[in-house]
Amino acid sequence: MNKKKIVSNYKEKIKEVNKYNKFYYDNNKPLVSDAVYDEIKQEIILLEKQYKFLRSKDSPSKLVGYKPSKNFNKIKHREPMLSLSNAFTEEDLLNFEKKIHNFLSKSSNSEIQYSAEPKIDGISASLTYKNGSFYQGLSRGDGKEGEDITKNLATIKEIPKKVISKDFPEEIDIRGEVFISNSDFENLKNKFANPRNAASGSLRQKNPEDTKKIPLRFIAYTFGYEKGLTIKKQSDYLKKLSEWGFKINPLNELISGVNNLMKNYHEVEKERVNLDFDIDGIVYKINDFNLQKRLGNVANAPRWAIAHKFSSNKAISNILDIDIQIGRTGALTPVAKIKPVNIGGVLVSNATLHNEDEINRKDIRIGDTVTVERAGDVIPHILTVDLKKRKKSSSKFVFPNICPSCGSKTIKELNSTTKKTDAVRRCSSQSYFCDKITIEKLKHFVSKEAFNIDGFGKKIVENFWNLKLIKYPQDIFKLDYRKIEKLEGWGSLSVQNLKYSINQKKTISFERFIFSLGIRHIGLENAKILSKYFGTFLKFKDLSKKNDFNDLLNIDGIGETQVSSIKNFFLDKTNIQILNELEKVLTIKNSILENKDGILKNQSFLVTGKLNGISRAEMKSLIEKNSGTTLSSVTKKLNYLIIGEKPTRKKIEIAKDLKIQILSQDQFLKMLNKSS
Ligand code: NAD
Repeated sequence: MNKKKIVSNYKEKIKEVNKYNKFYYDNNKPLVSDAVYDEIKQEIILLEKQYKFLRSKDSPSKLVGYKPSKNFNKIKHREPMLSLSNAFTEEDLLNFEKKIHNFLSKSSNSEIQYSAEPKIDGISASLTYKNGSFYQGLSRGDGKEGEDITKNLATIKEIPKKVISKDFPEEIDIRGEVFISNSDFENLKNKFANPRNAASGSLRQKNPEDTKKIPLRFIAYTFGYEKGLTIKKQSDYLKKLSEWGFKINPLNELISGVNNLMKNYHEVEKERVNLDFDIDGIVYKINDFNLQKRLGNVANAPRWAIAHKFSSNKAISNILDIDIQIGRTGALTPVAKIKPVNIGGVLVSNATLHNEDEINRKDIRIGDTVTVERAGDVIPHILTVDLKKRKKSSSKFVFPNICPSCGSKTIKELNSTTKKTDAVRRCSSQSYFCDKITIEKLKHFVSKEAFNIDGFGKKIVENFWNLKLIKYPQDIFKLDYRKIEKLEGWGSLSVQNLKYSINQKKTISFERFIFSLGIRHIGLENAKILSKYFGTFLKFKDLSKKNDFNDLLNIDGIGETQVSSIKNFFLDKTNIQILNELEKVLTIKNSILENKDGILKNQSFLVTGKLNGISRAEMKSLIEKNSGTTLSSVTKKLNYLIIGEKPTRKKIEIAKDLKIQILSQDQFLKMLNKSS
């Protein structure tokens, strides 16, 4: 890479981090997980280390938090409120200690005492006390200036409003963390991604009365400006805080030696799931204030402290229960209900167990202590079981051999191609007999790629099902709107909107229609192939008169598995009734022959990120209608990368390296209009 490219890559990363900061600190709605954020921050820091010419005042290695919001008065901190450097491994800790030894000219084996304090993941606040009275409270802001949130902080019961003690300094900024307990977060979890965002959002309300409604808590751990403090050690300061009436972390420890820090780290990591507040690591501070003073600060963090973070994609938790979920195709999927634990900024309370074989292979049981992994966008899953923690009374999990929903036998099919028994166990009931399967089929029917009915989401399907408003797909088009209007949460306007969206979708393309039926093994691609082959709904429906389906094997792209699935679908009388009923209420368009010489001929596209007002499936069909093709990864063969909201950064980077043209959704649509 040449210098110009390195600089532009560096600046782009900084721009990205600053965008994430705004959403995280100012709006309390993170755009990405902490793991993604930490990764890009680390990349910037590595670049700065590698190329000394890279420098920016906006670099995360220089900045703290985010500038104060306009909703509050800005007030300067008398002593800056800094961030903390991070350590992730034992090696990082050894380096940290080595640097301290070097800086203080101490021999490498001289003992250093640390105050090890579990790092509560909340938001920090600085409370000024004058002559024992709470005078003013500020948020950290950008470390230099904070927001005046005195009135909001005053609503927190754990913040003493008066401190009556002879040795309480004449003036002091007591600093600590405002947070929300995990149990209180339960009531707010629909609004915020994790307890930290909930605490920050609640504390920084414009109206203190709104803050008062949220049970915020406060733990004290340091100080800023002070006049009259006589203490010389952090551990003594923590004791004093407690005597003065402040809450301190019950798991604080005084420790020397990296080995012992690691031991404590692993113990606390295991204990974490049993705490009622969220911690994301342990802060180690040199205990002696004199040494702290000598060490001083780097740009945005003290040299005398470090935050030893817990893994951002793994955590230890306990299995509370094992739930069996039943999918549209009857597959029984076991899901572990775990004690909620924060993994990289996301509170995780479910982990997939994949299937029966996986449970048996790992011998996963209710009550087990397990390590849960949540990496990238992958659904959280159980990595390992801690057998040492298993209770003697625990018993093996027995996978149900009857469907928990309808009582039908559950079976493992023999795969005709591999001649092996399937790992997945399924409910053996037919079509619409099993309630859970039916609900999932209905959810699929209204889903984005199928009928895409605006405002008719999964929750509504469940709700209408429970109220017996729908049982079969055709019922969606014959809803009793007067009844719905009387339901809680519905008004005449929302009912009108629903009616409008449903009516709008009464005309549908043939391929979407086939897909919406949820025939096993018939996904979007196969639905398209079938729609082209049959051309019209009537010809497709004629399959119900057939006995021999073997001629379908001649369709390019359709194999034995699909044919057997189509056959099973048409052998089922309920399905035929549904087709007949749907035919009465819908207009199913005949399939259109593709234009082979469209404007996008010989051009390939890939979409990354969320599109606006158009589903991926619709975009794909739009591209194909205009003779373009879609690819699934960024390779040299790709001509255009279309980016929506929250695109995958890696894809953009590879596209740039390969000099692939990048388009916004608008630019792509203009490309079509221009030439049409
Ligand atoms: P930090 O949270 O890693 O560490 C500093 C903070 O720790 C202090 O300001 C203080 O509030 C807190 N703390 C808790 N207990 C403490 C104790 N005993 N002593 C001292 N401090 C204690 O640093 P930060 O600058 O606040 O935030 C950076 C982190 O926030 C990142 O690593 C990232 O994980 C997350 N973040 C995420 C996003 C996102 O978009 N997901 C955006 C910005 C930041």
